[in-house]
Amino acid sequence: MSKIKGLKCKECSKRYPAEPLHVCEFCFGPLEVEYDYDFIRQGITREQILQGPKSLWRYQALLPIEKEPTVGLHAGLTPLIHAKNLGQELGLNSLYLKNDAVNCPTLSFKDRVVAVALTRAKELGFDTVACASTGNLANSVSAHSAEARLSCYVFIPYDLESAKVLGNLIYRPNVVAVEGNYDDVNRLCSEIAGEYHWAFVNINIRPYYSEGSKTLAFETAEQLGWRAPHQVIVPIASGSLLTKIAKGFRELASLGLIPPAPVRIHGAQAAGCSPVASAFLEGRDFIKPVKPKTIAKSLAIGNPADGLYALKEVRESHGTVTTVTDEEIVEGILFLARTEGIFAETAGGVTVAVLKKLAHQKAFRSDETVVAYITGNGLKTQEAVSQAVGSPMLIEPTLSSFEKAFKKTKEDRRN
Ligand SMILES: *Cc1c(COP(=O)(O)O)cnc(C)c1O
Repeated sequence: MSKIKGLKCKECSKRYPAEPLHVCEFCFGPLEVEYDYDFIRQGITREQILQGPKSLWRYQALLPIEKEPTVGLHAGLTPLIHAKNLGQELGLNSLYLKNDAVNCPTLSFKDRVVAVALTRAKELGFDTVACASTGNLANSVSAHSAEARLSCYVFIPYDLESAKVLGNLIYRPNVVAVEGNYDDVNRLCSEIAGEYHWAFVNINIRPYYSEGSKTLAFETAEQLGWRAPHQVIVPIASGSLLTKIAKGFRELASLGLIPPAPVRIHGAQAAGCSPVASAFLEGRDFIKPVKPKTIAKSLAIGNPADGLYALKEVRESHGTVTTVTDEEIVEGILFLARTEGIFAETAGGVTVAVLKKLAHQKAFRSDETVVAYITGNGLKTQEAVSQAVGSPMLIEPTLSSFEKAFKKTKEDRRN
């Protein structure tokens, strides 16, 4: 007996074996892992989860691997922070931040999906892994493949932030910078995936990879004392993360691990790449691809694979998809740093700026539990804020020089 029944088309429900497949050959719909929940229900309790490893693998029973995990053993179980200062400024008593800016080992939520994808890729017998990436995914695939001794090819747009490029090269994978945007990279990778027998984590391994994002919902519920929040804010690139967070809360409720309760889900996009937000605002049932132009490069997907599914989750939960400008993104990063001492990357700036916008629009009651997902680390996108943070006061190594500067800071404060 296995908890994995196989793969199932999200559109026409046609079934496939649990192999490296991702599209339905009849209707071209995406494939999703189908579980035997009766089987899972017999072996999962809160106590057993709490006694599990201090990583996302405490939720192994709900992840699509058949044997024990072998890659990414330290990913997940990041802090859920009660953001008292930020909450106070926004009029929210129960605002929480799920801080994947400190995820292990590559400082973004992608360590979750890659831990699952590479464990599964090894189960399926692959010796080479690959991905198309907006940056963080490539960092995580590079690091995890080094640890797992898999050969590795990562494909990125040529104009990524320098820390994200270096954050690949340091692990010695094959890094391919493509002269185009992410959508060009992804299209090329689909062709390469057809020719080479590689585990492309976000192409032929996508049904397994994407399930890793559910752990953000699982951990949030656990850390809130086994309940779902009232509202969440989730950044959207391909839309997979948002879709799977919604699924994660549903799974916990259906297994009786949390009380069933609606979670209002808000998507967050940069105005310069907002195909899901446009469809939401215009009431459309299709996504019009766009050409991204934003500093939030990790979210710059103009043709999001799971955009429609994300839109559906938002609509059914009575949430919104809200956009913010590049200027607001920078302000969001600074606001979070100033209030909570957390340095998030541009995607985090998008999330915080959307949180602020929604708070000003009175989208939340002050006593509601609101969780914002901080998905990446600011040290990787320093270009975005380097102009906005000023510079240190430069002094000579003398007491008088310091006192002169100190007096000036006091005067500046007063003005
Ligand atoms: C990839 C990524 C996202 C969004 O992921 P999708 O599942 O493609 O929507 C959000 N934040 C950061 C920092 C990311 O790297």
